[in-house]
Amino acid sequence: MNALANQAELGHEQLAVFNPATRETIGSVPIFSAAEIAAAVDRARKAQPRWAATPVRERMAIIRRFQQLLCDQKDAVCEVITREAGKPLAEALSTEILVVLDGAQYLLDNVPAFLRPEHIPHSNLAMKLKRGTLLREPYGVIGIISPWNYPFSLPSVQTITALAMGNAVVLKPSEFTPFTSLELQRLLREAGLDPDLLQVVTGEGAAGVALLQANIDKMIFTGSVATGKKVAQSAAARLLPVVLELGGKDPMIVLEDADVEVASSAAVWGAFMNAGQTCLSVERCYVHESIYEKFLQACVEKTNKLRSGNGTDANTDIGPMIHERQLRTVQIHIDDAIAHGARVLTGGKPLTQLGPSFFAPTILADVTHSMAIMREETFGPVLPVRSFKNDDEAVALANDSDFGLAASVWTRNKSRGESLARRINAGSVLVNDVVCSFGISEAPHGGIKASGIGRTHGRFGLEEMVWPKYVDSDQMPGMKKLWWYGYGPGFRTQMQGFIELLFAGNFTKRVRGGGKSIKSFLGRKPR
Ligand code: NAD
Repeated sequence: MNALANQAELGHEQLAVFNPATRETIGSVPIFSAAEIAAAVDRARKAQPRWAATPVRERMAIIRRFQQLLCDQKDAVCEVITREAGKPLAEALSTEILVVLDGAQYLLDNVPAFLRPEHIPHSNLAMKLKRGTLLREPYGVIGIISPWNYPFSLPSVQTITALAMGNAVVLKPSEFTPFTSLELQRLLREAGLDPDLLQVVTGEGAAGVALLQANIDKMIFTGSVATGKKVAQSAAARLLPVVLELGGKDPMIVLEDADVEVASSAAVWGAFMNAGQTCLSVERCYVHESIYEKFLQACVEKTNKLRSGNGTDANTDIGPMIHERQLRTVQIHIDDAIAHGARVLTGGKPLTQLGPSFFAPTILADVTHSMAIMREETFGPVLPVRSFKNDDEAVALANDSDFGLAASVWTRNKSRGESLARRINAGSVLVNDVVCSFGISEAPHGGIKASGIGRTHGRFGLEEMVWPKYVDSDQMPGMKKLWWYGYGPGFRTQMQGFIELLFAGNFTKRVRGGGKSIKSFLGRKPR
């Protein structure tokens, strides 16, 4: 913060940050120029080799101290999250702080073993005198660009994972929620991290562009599909490896044997938590026709009891949306659905009496796939529901989407749910729950199709922060290899026989091949 304050004093252009609940300005941060971002990356690059050479247990000691500091200061960090992102304090605790503390624990429990050199056994008889080892090397400097909807958990887990692997990080947070990332930076510095190893560069989209063009070694981007495509194009031009965590349109399938009471509570929470601004939100709900009306009624009753308001009020269930642009998208999707025959069962309009950023939690029935609300990411508090006749139709509807982030199946029959889960094209499919896989640090997080490329979290998330180096050590260094020069008819016969020895279809052919190979080998000398 001091460094940033100093930059402000030096006359930096400032970016104002608003409280979405009140629309009051809560502060400002500097807009970093492209040259400053390039300089931050250079500082990170200089500091990184020493960090990579630091024993893993010392790196993990910093992660542990960070975890303890965060646990002690969780309420203060939640206040910052709620002030700039609007979500209820309880959600800041459960979907941000808890996720990061558990993410840190996952690293403490797994990174030392993960980074141990791994022996790679092999089966090729010709290579038997070789010993292979896989090393996992840090990339160097990882650029991270984050959205505003989970301003703490997303960049924090990505940052501490990158650091634990021996990388340095330059983080560009969303222009709407920079203070939360500055809290992350503060906590890691207090934990003993060299300031150059995590630098937060604040600004708008242009700062993201500048970070992509700076001398980074990998980009971890989380945000919209539209921006993700631009990031992918820019990265492709210089073959920069990228992870893209993009949008979702997650389906929820409620089978006829589901517990309607439980499934309706899940649908309401899954669609409205964080005011529906979650990549894993329930954005499409398909309910078996035999329980359709009962399910809708239960959802409406529960929705009508929800309390919208300022996230700092302990009684608030749903906070504001981040900005008015987001509200407009929600209204456009709802109006389009109504125009094409959908029924509004509750909500459907902004809650202007609370301020310009609040939208009533909305339930739409009888939606169809020709409506924008079932095809595009709405990212607001809307639960669109339609009925289906049988499992095949439900699976076809769930898979009829450009997105493939997550999905859920609801049934009292676990094995039926699990077998349906296998047929759904999404990065994660939950049976009898929604959203929560993000809170399981072991579970890979990411999607297919327009939902992105690559994974964060879990073992796959660790692999994204390193590149694999195969080191091969020959056990007979004094011996020339049989496949080196000295070609001619003899070598050809030797190879033919050797291949037959290994792969011919029957035992006799194999023995004959072995004999042919040995005979030619004895009459030949590699040069
Ligand atoms: P966004 O794409 O508008 O912005 C994301 C970040 O990219 C911001 O920091 C922004 O400043 C930066 N940016 C903007 N233009 C850029 C450019 N040309 N080059 C580089 N960076 C640029 O997204 P948002 O509105 O902040 O976030 C909401 C979106 O994020 C939703 O679509 C949501 O589904 C998605 N999201 C995905 C996940 C996931 O894990 N899959 C998680 C959270 C959010």
